[in-house]
Amino acid sequence: MSSNLKNRAENVMPGGVNSPVRAFTSVGGDPIFARGGNGAYLETEDNRPLLDFCMSFGPLILGHAHPTVVEAVQQAAIRGTSYAVTTAAEVEMAEIVCKAFPGMDRIRLVNSGTEACMTAIRLARGATGRTKILKFSGCYHGHADCLLVKAGSGVAGIASASSGGVPDSCAQQTLVARYNRIEDVQNLIDSHGDDLAAIILEPLAGNMGLVAPRDGFLQEVTDQARSCGALVIFDEVITGFRLGFGGYQHLCGIRPDLTTLGKIIGGGMPIGAVGGRAELMERLAPGGDIYQAGTLSGNPVSVAAGLASLRWLGSNNPYPELDRQTGDLVRDICASAKSHGVALQAGRAGSMFSLFFADRPVHDFDEVSATKTKLFPRFFQALLQNGVYLPPSPFETSFVSTAHGEKEMGLARKAFDLALSQLSD
Ligand code: PLP
Repeated sequence: MSSNLKNRAENVMPGGVNSPVRAFTSVGGDPIFARGGNGAYLETEDNRPLLDFCMSFGPLILGHAHPTVVEAVQQAAIRGTSYAVTTAAEVEMAEIVCKAFPGMDRIRLVNSGTEACMTAIRLARGATGRTKILKFSGCYHGHADCLLVKAGSGVAGIASASSGGVPDSCAQQTLVARYNRIEDVQNLIDSHGDDLAAIILEPLAGNMGLVAPRDGFLQEVTDQARSCGALVIFDEVITGFRLGFGGYQHLCGIRPDLTTLGKIIGGGMPIGAVGGRAELMERLAPGGDIYQAGTLSGNPVSVAAGLASLRWLGSNNPYPELDRQTGDLVRDICASAKSHGVALQAGRAGSMFSLFFADRPVHDFDEVSATKTKLFPRFFQALLQNGVYLPPSPFETSFVSTAHGEKEMGLARKAFDLALSQLSD
């Protein structure tokens, strides 16, 4: 069934997919086709339930098809799928998010994390009257032109395009520093500070596997930005409402100028958001001179799914339990690795984790790239054989949801142990 679908897909969709990582290029084998999802499980077209640790790359903190979210989506859809005028639900959503992010007075809903980051950058450029932005290698902020860049020659500096179709002139407006290396930021600010509109970063990096900021790094980045008049954009598309009812910014005690959100605030439906101080956000059209718009922005079905998720998270506070469960699982995986003689490092924060085949902890993209990523395809396929689905790339973070109960964690422990035992052969 899946191989037939794969052939059909490849005949009509580039690479047979609508987003590249779904093609399983990094892990080999045939990509999965999903028929449905239920709680902690993804159901394939071949009728295999897979214990899911990808969870749609983060939005599904309540698991697949959570009854409260499904009910909200159904009720919203019955009333209409798009109005292109403002709704009370959007106002409520904005109130909830602004309250959860101190210092965020205004929020604009968009349709994806990509759009949110693109808008934040336009806003930063418009507000500062400057052109350049600084990002960190290994951080992902969606696929806007100026963000599809890699470090150019030399350790840090002017970027080159990491994708065809991105003009050099565009990539050259982006500076790239190594995550956790404040000296890179300092050097770049020394030479480009006067032209720097913003520093954008994932405060907890989740797109090179999970890499935590070193103590003091986020404050130093913020101080450097302020010293040259650049804005700080925290990309909390993954971390927003993932580790607590708000953002990573509460945990690290830093208030960025702008925050981007997505994933969880849409409850599995398409959404994104950018928020910040009133005077900055009011620079957006219609009141301000910086244009941004969207036919489906604030879509009623997405907002209903997001609101249902946020209300559930707000009243049930699942975060301590998610943290405990994920911590226990990761500790046991590390113990398994040790017993099988596999060098493994884990990154973990709350219900996010990733595993690196390495002797020492990793702090930036260079160190992550130097791990034994070539072991990952075998590890991934062994887990899949045993009914566990990890994100299909060594550079993605895994997610635990509230639907992952003790039974699921037990199954996962056994599957990880088996997969690690096979790696040590
Ligand atoms: N920012 C971060 C931190 C992300 O992880 C992602 C996507 O994974 C994006 C932005 C882009 O979001 P989207 O895929 O909704 O465009």
